[in-house]
Amino acid sequence: MTQPIATAIAGSLPKPAWLAQPEKLWAPWQLSGAALDQAKTDAVRLAVDEQVRAGITVIGDGEQTRQHFVTTFIEHLDGVDFAKRKTMRIRDRYDADVPIVVAAVARRKPVFVADAKHLRQLTENPIKFTLPGPMTLVDTLYDDCYGSREKLAWAFAEILNQEAHELVAAGVDVVQFDEPAFNVFFDEVSDWGVKTLERAAAGLACKTAVHICYGYGIEANIKWKSTLGSEWRQYERTFPLLAASRIDQVSLECHNSHVPMDLIALLDGKDVMVGAIDVATNQVETPAEVAATLRKALQFVKPHRLIGCTNCGMVPLPREVARAKLHALAAGAAIVRGELGWS
Ligand code: ZN
Repeated sequence: MTQPIATAIAGSLPKPAWLAQPEKLWAPWQLSGAALDQAKTDAVRLAVDEQVRAGITVIGDGEQTRQHFVTTFIEHLDGVDFAKRKTMRIRDRYDADVPIVVAAVARRKPVFVADAKHLRQLTENPIKFTLPGPMTLVDTLYDDCYGSREKLAWAFAEILNQEAHELVAAGVDVVQFDEPAFNVFFDEVSDWGVKTLERAAAGLACKTAVHICYGYGIEANIKWKSTLGSEWRQYERTFPLLAASRIDQVSLECHNSHVPMDLIALLDGKDVMVGAIDVATNQVETPAEVAATLRKALQFVKPHRLIGCTNCGMVPLPREVARAKLHALAAGAAIVRGELGWS
């Protein structure tokens, strides 16, 4: 990045009402067949347009072509049965009916590569593409084949690496792996989580990133957060491992959370995507609030390594709220850039 205090979204943006039911997580599509394909393509154009008009630096596709950030990826793989489902506890927090791994997982065809090529055509800005990380994939499925979360994670890491290499060839500048599971299973993160993440990111000729959050503003997550106490120190376990890893960027939750800002110091040498936008409220941050969060982060990370970001995906928010939050994010970063003598 040439200018300090870049900005980016964590991943998702709300979908237009003609594509999927608004303000709903994992909402079903409103169309099918060729009409659905066309609607997704149009929605990506709008998502890019919203970000560019707001002045966001690193552009994503807003995950407009995905119903779910994990299962949409898995649907394209062999070895997973979506017809049969089992109830599983996800992130140790809530039950969900999930697909079953019935045979060796394999990627016979690209998943998001056509989407990445499309995104590349829509903007001159750097572009970021998100993929679910190996541990989060494992934690969103019932395994009836591998008999080991670690073994399944290594298998997914290989598949993710194949996909990521093709995304880079399509012109993607940042490949981000989403690992909310890293905030829950600390022993596994240390045993094999970071290693499988590095395998997924191996040899990529682009920036690599990991997003670790406290989830969307859904009830199960809000309840969980209320049990975490006045200081959320979960990152203290994972950041030293990530600092020693080959991953370039770390995306974390900050604004309106109880994460102590000084934990960022544990990420010395990494780019840090600081969550300056709360995705669990419709209240829109002011540019001054965003600037205040970024200023605090600057005590622990250099301006060229700081990227103002959202805490998590914005898909469940009303579109006008998400749009206003994008503008606040860009305006807040501009304030701080001005203070540093860059404008
Ligand atoms: Zn998230």
